[in-house]
Amino acid sequence: MGIPGSGLAKGLAVTLRTMTRRAHTAQYPQAQPELPPRTRGVIGLFEENCTVCMLCARECPDWCIYIDSHKETVPPAAPGGRERSRNVLDRFAIDFALCMYCGICIEVCPFDALFWSPEFEYAEEDIRDLTHERDKLREWMWTVPAPPALDPAAEEPKEIAAARKAAEKAAAAEAAKAAEAAEAAKAAEPDGQNGGAS
Ligand code: SF4
Ligand code: SF4
Repeated sequence: MGIPGSGLAKGLAVTLRTMTRRAHTAQYPQAQPELPPRTRGVIGLFEENCTVCMLCARECPDWCIYIDSHKETVPPAAPGGRERSRNVLDRFAIDFALCMYCGICIEVCPFDALFWSPEFEYAEEDIRDLTHERDKLREWMWTVPAPPALDPAAEEPKEIAAARKAAEKAAAAEAAKAAEAAEAAKAAEPDGQNGGAS
């Protein structure tokens, strides 16, 4: 059996220790939380990039992406060319009452049309209002943070490497051409002006 009152002393010690520590509780909404940059708050749609490929809607585990579209015929780009058909978006909506924020739709979109926004304050009194239509999804786009800077130690993107190689090749060809022209001009000069002192 322990010393009488030791339990109470231990309890008080814990209380005192905790009292001196900084509280982790934030007084939301007076104090806004500091969110990590890749917070999954809400999904923004960059409509111009969407080709209505339906991949996001097919891969969504909750079936909460609703897309409607129709086909349009585009006239040929040049005379004699063939007409093309393209999908035109009529409806794009996400039901955030069903969404489980897995991010699969954003990962699978091949055209960079979906992005995470850290905004999370969109609670509604009516659950139906949690279905955000394309206009609202576009509004969220303006709250999407800029992509993080590339790691300085990262491998150079192959597009940049290819562009630099092409620019270097063009510059070398240009320099060779200029040298050739200078040689030709020198050769065309009369002997007296060609530096020949014989
Ligand atoms: S985050 Fe996941 S659940 Fe939500 S819409 Fe995208 S794929 Fe569906
Ligand atoms: S995967 Fe991307 S491009 Fe395809 S329908 Fe979804 S948002 Fe549009």
